[in-house]
This record gives sequence, structure tokens and C-alpha cells, in this order.
Amino acid sequence: MTDLWSYLPLSACIHADCRLQCPLAVDVRSEDRKMAAAILSGKIALVTGGGSGIGREICKVLARDGARVVIGDRNGNAARETRDLLINPDTHMDIVLDVKERESVMSAIHATVKKYSSPPSLAANAAGITKDNFLLKMDDTSFMDVIDVNLKGTYIVTQIVAGALLQAGINEGSIVNISSLVAKNGNIGQSNYAASKAGVIAFSQTAAKELSRLGIRVNALLPGFIETPMVKTVPDKLRDRFLTLISAQRFGKPEEIAEVVSFLLSNKSSYITGAAIEVTGGLNF
Ligand code: NAP
Repeated sequence: MTDLWSYLPLSACIHADCRLQCPLAVDVRSEDRKMAAAILSGKIALVTGGGSGIGREICKVLARDGARVVIGDRNGNAARETRDLLINPDTHMDIVLDVKERESVMSAIHATVKKYSSPPSLAANAAGITKDNFLLKMDDTSFMDVIDVNLKGTYIVTQIVAGALLQAGINEGSIVNISSLVAKNGNIGQSNYAASKAGVIAFSQTAAKELSRLGIRVNALLPGFIETPMVKTVPDKLRDRFLTLISAQRFGKPEEIAEVVSFLLSNKSSYITGAAIEVTGGLNF
């Protein structure tokens, strides 16, 4: 039995359908995992909105890939729950953070420096809200609340993280700002949200131009329709309509966004900056 396996190429063992119980298969898979774990090892990553949905999955994937994760969310309990889900929870930290408040973001960075003796060189801005209504019924508060969290929050976190890296003399960083496909197409009932997410793209492209001389890359990621608490309120009729517009014929999973975020934060994407990357399953509307 062992002799037989020693004659087979390793690639024969890693096939997902392998039912031969090859003794090497386990080793090969764990080697794959170790290689994946290395891509962010030694890095500190701030994730906003880390208490739910896409942000929570980003935290899980970054921890798996070796980063020490600072889980920021305005909901402290949710951030703590996320930390408990991560590999080696004690190596990560959770923190109450309101992205639209400069002081709150500053104190999160100070707490990070206190724990790790360094600011985060990676950041994923996933905090976001919706307050949908038709344009003719939209009130100023709903419009500005969404702009404040989604756009101003992204600006504040990006500016503070970049400033902290400059101050610490760290000349390598990567920031991913979560936008949305509706930034490109608009969406009925979301004039505030679509405008905020379009702003995130233009902001990220500008930040990429300004910060590349400091070694910091900035990219925007545009998810399509992803199964998270945020979209639970979408009426079934509308969900069904969206489904007909998605080439993949299904909604996305938050981990499918998180994998791309990890890639964009890692050096594997070292030549990507100022990009607006769609992860939509081919959604076109
Ligand atoms: P989610 O499940 O609602 O998670 C968002 C998280 O951000 C929540 O924990 C929320 O806390 C937190 N948050 C809200 N305001 C905050 C603030 N001011 N400071 C810090 N944290 C705050 O939403 P999601 O679906 O994962 O969305 C994550 C990001 O992806 C958002 O930017 C969203 O716009 C974007 N996106 C989502 C989809 C989708 O289909 N799901 C598609 C395109 C883009 P609370 O629970 O207390 O509000």
C-alpha cells in the first residue's frame, strides 16, 4: 500500500474527489493550508464592521491567513463574538469603534499600538449602513447618515491609518474599501447608499494616487448581492428579480468577498492599486 502511493505523483492525492484515502493527501492539504496562512503572517489588520456579515468573514479569513486582527464595530458584543470565532482568539483584539467619529478611530489606533507596538498596516473598511427610501420621500437625516458612515467613515479610517503608518516609519500598507455594484448602476430606493458607494470608489482611487509614494495601496471592492444581515430585509419579490440578473444564478457568500479582500491586502496583489474590483457573480442590472 505505502509502496503504491510512493510511485504516484503528489497531484494525484489532492483531488477533492479522491476516495482512495491516500495517506499523503492529508499532508498535502495541510501544506496548502500552511502556505495560505503565510500570506499575511506578521501583519496587523484593522477590520471595520467586523461584528457582522462581510466584515466578520473578512476577520476570519485574515486570521486564517496569519494576520493579527483588530475587530472594530460600533456593536462591541458583536465584535467580541467575532473574536471568539477566530483562530487563536487571544492574538486578536476587539474594539468598539464608530467610523464616523474621528476620536473613536484615533483611540482604536492608539489601542492597537498599545497592544502590538505598531499601527495596522492593513485595513478593510466594511462598516456600512443602508437607510433606503424613494428619492421623493428621502429625508435629509437618512441621506446624511448613510453618507457619514459609508463615505466619511471610509475617509476617516483611511486617513488615520495612513497617517499612523507614516508617523511610525512603515512604508508598506494596503487598504480595501468596500463599495458596492450599485455605485456603478444606481438602485431604486438607494439614492443615498449608491451616492455614498460611488464616493468610496472615487475616494479610493484618489487615495491610491496620493498614498502610493508612501508604499500604501488602496483599492475598492464592489460586492454584488451577498447573503448577510444587511440584505435580509430585501423583499422576496425583489430578491427573485435580482437572482434572474446574476450569471452565477445564486447570491454571494460573505466568505467569497473575504477571500478577495485577503488577496488585495496581501503582497500577492502588489501591482494592484486604485482599482475597483467587482465580485458579483456576474450581476448586471
Ligand atoms: P452588516 O451585516 O449589516 O454589517 C455591517 C456592520 O457594520 C454591522 O456590524 C454594523 O453594526 C457595523 N456598523 C454600522 N455602522 C457602523 C459605524 N458607524 N461604525 C462601526 N461599525 C458600524 O452588512 P454587510 O452586508 O456585511 O455589509 C458590509 C459592507 O459591505 C457594507 O459597507 C455594505 O455596504 C457593503 N455591501 C454589502 C452588500 C451585501 O449584499 N450584503 C453588497 C454590496 C456592498 P450594526 O449591526 O450595529 O449596524
